[in-house]
Amino acid sequence: MAENNLKRADGLPPAMMRLVRELSRLPGVGEKTASRLAFNLLNRPRDEVIALAEALLEMKERVGLCSQCFALADAPRCRICEDPEREHEVICVVEGPADLMAIERARSFGGLYHVLHGAVAPLDGIGPDDLKMKELLVRLGGEVPVREVIIATNATVEGEATALYLGRLLKPLGVKTTRLAHGLPVGGELDYADELTLARAFSGRRAF
Ligand SMILES: [Zn+2]
Repeated sequence: MAENNLKRADGLPPAMMRLVRELSRLPGVGEKTASRLAFNLLNRPRDEVIALAEALLEMKERVGLCSQCFALADAPRCRICEDPEREHEVICVVEGPADLMAIERARSFGGLYHVLHGAVAPLDGIGPDDLKMKELLVRLGGEVPVREVIIATNATVEGEATALYLGRLLKPLGVKTTRLAHGLPVGGELDYADELTLARAFSGRRAF
């Protein structure tokens, strides 16, 4: 959308216009901010600009998804899945990588994760098949026995709908399923919960 509409960048050298166009594709970056960033980069030492360009490429080339839990990883499996000290029989299901990071910061959970990469949102056309749900079922049928699945989707309409769907999906498997309980405000997103609240939500989880 921004590319046909770069008013401020008019008159810039094409190489700079190209950068402004690329930067303004980023979320929350309008053309004004993109132009400011471009001018800033132009005035930076060459080695700093190279470091930034290399960081972008390296991230894109190295970071993918863990083949087991679908967290961000720069190896076939993420560091959490590879950690023998963690409880491999307990899986905490979260909507996105930011939720996983929030729970890790709270240090109240020592098991593994499963990242769905979204939540069920029929109005936005996002159904269970668009999420890593089948992959969770495959995992539960795998060789490592799973003792408990903790559903830690957000306390939003979509998060609750996802939790309900998962609960129904897991019930026939007979695996103990719990949901993070009190502490999380209604409409609250895990990512923004403070660490104490998250710790309480884990210790107060209930059968689901
Ligand atoms: Zn993993």
